[in-house]
Amino acid sequence: MATVSFWGGVGVSGSSKVLIEDRGWRILLDLGLDHPQTELYHHPVRPRYGKELHDRLTVGDAPWIPRLFQSDAVMGTGLEGGSDGKTAIFITHSHVDHIGLLGWVDSLIPIYAAPETVKIRRAITAIGQAWQADPHFELILSEKVMLEGQEPQIMAMNEGGPLQFGPFRIIRYLVDHDVPGASGYIVETDQGRVAYTGDIRLHGRHPERVKDFAKMAKGAEVLVIEGTTLGTRSRDTEQPATEAQIDRTFDTILEHTSGLILLSLRPRNIERIEAFIQIAQSRGRKILWSKEFATFLRAYGLDVQSIQYSREQIQDIHMRPCKYLVQMAPKDIPWIMDLPIGPESLFIQADGDPKLSSPPGRSVQAWLERYHVGLRTLGTRGHGSPDAIHQIVEWVQPKVVYPLHTHAPELLQPNPPTMPIIPEYARRYPIV
Ligand SMILES: [Zn+2]
Ligand SMILES: [Zn+2]
Repeated sequence: MATVSFWGGVGVSGSSKVLIEDRGWRILLDLGLDHPQTELYHHPVRPRYGKELHDRLTVGDAPWIPRLFQSDAVMGTGLEGGSDGKTAIFITHSHVDHIGLLGWVDSLIPIYAAPETVKIRRAITAIGQAWQADPHFELILSEKVMLEGQEPQIMAMNEGGPLQFGPFRIIRYLVDHDVPGASGYIVETDQGRVAYTGDIRLHGRHPERVKDFAKMAKGAEVLVIEGTTLGTRSRDTEQPATEAQIDRTFDTILEHTSGLILLSLRPRNIERIEAFIQIAQSRGRKILWSKEFATFLRAYGLDVQSIQYSREQIQDIHMRPCKYLVQMAPKDIPWIMDLPIGPESLFIQADGDPKLSSPPGRSVQAWLERYHVGLRTLGTRGHGSPDAIHQIVEWVQPKVVYPLHTHAPELLQPNPPTMPIIPEYARRYPIV
């Protein structure tokens, strides 16, 4: 009998892991880092280097799934390692709570993802190499760029084209989230279909992809949907700005700002980066990127210019401050002493680092205050509003829906005949 079980994302916003099993064959959808459920690890306390999986399994912060991880990595835990030859992994997107444990997977287990996800991994590897070669190279904060274990070999999977694996047929569909390549999967079993959204929203650049996915999933026996925003009541989560609105506001800010603009973005939100580059260009400005960002974006295939803070470059910015935007890494903030800034300039915090409430964020604000630079926050969530999540369930109308990747699964309340089930960790539910 085919079953579905959940090994992450149960009662927590993140780390979804969905296991589908049938007659000894297994499909695992996503394998990210778990949010630690204990007080054992708060920065800078971390699992021991090279023994991270061992330590996580020992304290219950990684899924106890046999014949999945490298034998060496699980040695001493009591968990059986190595490949069973009947397991395949499919990844929805490149965020660490969805891919973070891939570096520990046995090399014989195939891993599939969107081509964009593979490309992002390659670009991140380029950052890792630059970081190892240059101790001053700053890892892009909060984007945990280096995976533990070995760099996994992820295979690019075509959209739409079904892949047969044992008794399963797996189809990947593009959806919308704040990273390119975000995908949902439909897994067909002999007992019925399981649709899994990954992280998803309707206020991004591609709502039509989500509608198409829902259409393909219509009437599935099982829908597994993320519910990050359920239970978080705020204007941001209930009526999130669309990416198109963010672009328009960015354009308006550029139109009305005469001085130099400083900018903070998230590196993996590449579609927003591409949009901002174009908008800046149309307003006669060029974005200069910190070397960490430039390394990443170039490795992804974007043609970008970096800021070196050389004397000539700084002179040029002084002569024409209205022609530039400077993306600021937190460690570079003191460079504003050399830049032409003041009340006519602006710092745009577009979901980037550092978070303003964090200690480095407070440093950034203190620098901006000292130099009388205004601060503007501009951003939107990668996760659909509670209404959007309910809308997607309504479109799919599955027999059963499991809310995952949420701390408030009970707030998913679909209309009949869809039955909501709050999943229990590691419990096997029959697909019927
Ligand atoms: Zn997530
Ligand atoms: Zn995500």
